Amino acid sequence: MGSLPSPEDYDVLILGAGMSGMCALHHIRKTLPQLRVRVLEAAPDVGGTWYWNCYPGARFDSESVSYAFSFDKGVLDEWRWSEAFASQPETLRYLRLVADRLDLKKDIQFNTRVTTLHWSDERRLWKAVDEHGTVYTARFVVSCIGFLSNPTLPNIPGIASFAGQGFHTSRWPRELQGKQAEAALAGKRIGVIGTGATGIQTITALAQMPNIPSLTVFQRHATWTVPLRNTPLTPDQAETYRHNADSIFGLANSTPTGFLHQADPHKTAELSLEDRLAHYERIYNKPGMAKWLGAFSDTYTDRAANEEYSQFIAQKIKDRVHDPGLANRLVPTDHGFGLRRVPLESGYFEAFNKEHVHLVDLKETPIQTVTPGGIQTADGKEHPLDVLVYATGFNAITGSFVDMDIRGREGVPLMGSSAMGEKEKRNAGASAVWMDYRPRTFLGITVPHCPNLFMVLGPHQPFGNAPRSIEHVVEVVVGLLATCADKGYTFVEPTPAAVEDWTTHVISCSDGALLNEVDSWMTGVNTNVKGRGERSVARYAGSLVEYKRRCRACQEAGWEGLEMK
Ligand code: NAP
Repeated sequence: MGSLPSPEDYDVLILGAGMSGMCALHHIRKTLPQLRVRVLEAAPDVGGTWYWNCYPGARFDSESVSYAFSFDKGVLDEWRWSEAFASQPETLRYLRLVADRLDLKKDIQFNTRVTTLHWSDERRLWKAVDEHGTVYTARFVVSCIGFLSNPTLPNIPGIASFAGQGFHTSRWPRELQGKQAEAALAGKRIGVIGTGATGIQTITALAQMPNIPSLTVFQRHATWTVPLRNTPLTPDQAETYRHNADSIFGLANSTPTGFLHQADPHKTAELSLEDRLAHYERIYNKPGMAKWLGAFSDTYTDRAANEEYSQFIAQKIKDRVHDPGLANRLVPTDHGFGLRRVPLESGYFEAFNKEHVHLVDLKETPIQTVTPGGIQTADGKEHPLDVLVYATGFNAITGSFVDMDIRGREGVPLMGSSAMGEKEKRNAGASAVWMDYRPRTFLGITVPHCPNLFMVLGPHQPFGNAPRSIEHVVEVVVGLLATCADKGYTFVEPTPAAVEDWTTHVISCSDGALLNEVDSWMTGVNTNVKGRGERSVARYAGSLVEYKRRCRACQEAGWEGLEMK
């Protein structure tokens, strides 16, 4: 078995101990036990997304049984999901079990946030520095930092002046979890800004807590959301699922998104109205993402088809909200159903039927400022608050990389903005690899100008059912490392032609999708972040199956598209 000629601390440094980092650590250690591998993780625990996002109501909206790791029979035998769509605490328990069973923690260094990552042309290695100033060197770096991991606060004035407790959902205070939350939040007037997937789960859970005098929801755009239909799993059901794990993972791996659902192959107009409505009703009543992913094959590409299905869902929402005026405000009017990531809910609309839950429509009355006592809106009204929750999302995908100073060959920075000031530009030294948050990659795994940097769930990869993508990409990364170990290579970088072809392919995969016409994290827009007002293509919108085929073809052709030496 080959090894790497390596004068550095580690052969492989993995950034992040969420699902990607855990999977990468396990497989690299298992396949290439001769390599020295270390994981650096900012949090004090494993779990990544499932560690940080511990707000009330956080849970999967993909089926628990399809979300787990498929590779370790021991864990699969030991673990039983208690619900069809597991809650965050249960998922974190699962990931801790995986870490224990696979003895991962001995190679993970917690409480270590990497702030700098520089490539040395001379030594052909990466030098990482953490926030405490400790330096680590490694031949290869595997970035497992997640694509929704850099939280953003709203760009409204006065946030620092708030005298109550204010926090982003992904920094939810640990003392406000579970039963403790009910006691600690009792008597508090709570405000939530943001009604995306996170806001919807948080608002629904907070609305159900006793002794909260008021819950005020500050909504900028209404969100299309449909029922999750979660149920407990009986021990018998859990056992059946365990028994059928291979076929469940097999099914997930065969769909375009890695979920257990896929589109009906018909085009909308091919069926009669009666049959179409029957189909909408059927998928609406199913659990999970069937209502989004199980629509017709043209629901998200044909305007009339999308309009029809949107009308169907709008009526479902209106049927659930008692006050018709309020119902109208909760139905999106500026984009069609499914053109942003569709969150699944468990009583969201009913929450607004409660006396103490209030909706502030920011399109009618925008926020003017956060004040020490609450939020002041443009109508001059002050909304008094003791707790202010920012469910305002993330600087997504490429935004995860922005807080690290990453420089590749010849000191070229990974991230940069054409809106940078002259001084910043001089410091950056050259034009960036990903100018204005627009990624350029090969297979979403390798990055031009950044040799020996591999990404798991990075830009230009499919983001459907995350573990299904993670397991595949980790397999590719392990294959690359194995080739390097075998041949003694110390340098891997995509060729300019391969990067050009792949980036063009990724952009062309989104052609024709109505989703491209809507601002959201999926189209790269975040108005809270300077330089993120323009839409860009950062996710692979082709199918997971096609993505895998292309990765396989590259490997079978001797890693065609990569310069390896
Ligand atoms: P998000 O979808 O980006 O939603 C952010 C929300 O904050 C939006 O409602 C947005 O309003 C609002 N907002 C942002 N800035 C604002 C401002 N300055 N003033 C007022 N409102 C503002 O973020 P997210 O809800 O955290 O979800 C992100 C993704 O995480 C999801 O799409 C999903 O992929 C994932 N997620 C998954 C689950 C799950 O069940 N598995 C749960 C939670 C999250 P606008 O709509 O007007 O922009």
